[in-house]
Amino acid sequence: MTGLTRQTTPVVPATLYHYTCREHGEPGITHDQKLLPHKQPLLGRHLVWLTDLDTPHPWALGLTNYLLCCDRTQVRVTVHPWVCKDICGVHAWWHYRRTIHPVLREAVEQTGMPMHWWVTELPVPIDTITPAAHGGKAYTRA
Ligand SMILES: [Zn+2]
Repeated sequence: MTGLTRQTTPVVPATLYHYTCREHGEPGITHDQKLLPHKQPLLGRHLVWLTDLDTPHPWALGLTNYLLCCDRTQVRVTVHPWVCKDICGVHAWWHYRRTIHPVLREAVEQTGMPMHWWVTELPVPIDTITPAAHGGKAYTRA
């Protein structure tokens, strides 16, 4: 990643969360014991998406089911980025977004509250995997 300036780097929280579904997300994360970057289709970059929200707000996190048929707010993965060298490469989205073409970042930001997003291009070791606070919602196929 290039073009980032040190003096405005926001402080990465001690605890961040990743929300996923039981069916597709949880098994691999449990196996790996880390969050691995996955390709974001719009951006064409491999990223781990994190948030500082401790309960899942599907709209805020861009996890609504418009494009996917599963509930990606069922499971909460807790991480502590400061256990890694270089904070696991975690950046505030509103900092990282400067490296992305304006048209693309606007498309990504259409769904959600980007102020609560944190991203990294590196794997992040996990602390715990628990059911999300609201217990998930029923799986429904649109
Ligand atoms: Zn799924």
